[in-house]
Amino acid sequence: MDDVDLTRRASGLVVVRLRRGAALPGGRLAGESDRTAHLCPVPHCERASDSLTALCGLVILPVRADLLPALTGMPCPACLVRATCGAVG
Ligand SMILES: [Zn+2]
Repeated sequence: MDDVDLTRRASGLVVVRLRRGAALPGGRLAGESDRTAHLCPVPHCERASDSLTALCGLVILPVRADLLPALTGMPCPACLVRATCGAVG
């Protein structure tokens, strides 16, 4: 995949990775394999406690995640598919 093209398509998105031990839907705690880099539309919220929804549908609380400066590490495959298929304007 072309990194430059992905960066261009991903504009308007932030890259977020769950912190180890963050609660996942269903109650399980995030382990290392759950720490993929998700793409989230830039939120239009004013409160830091508002949740983010990744392109893959995962709801992420900002206090349980790290904001990454770029798409690094292991990317979330579902987020990548949605970002590169034009699901985001
Ligand atoms: Zn994702």
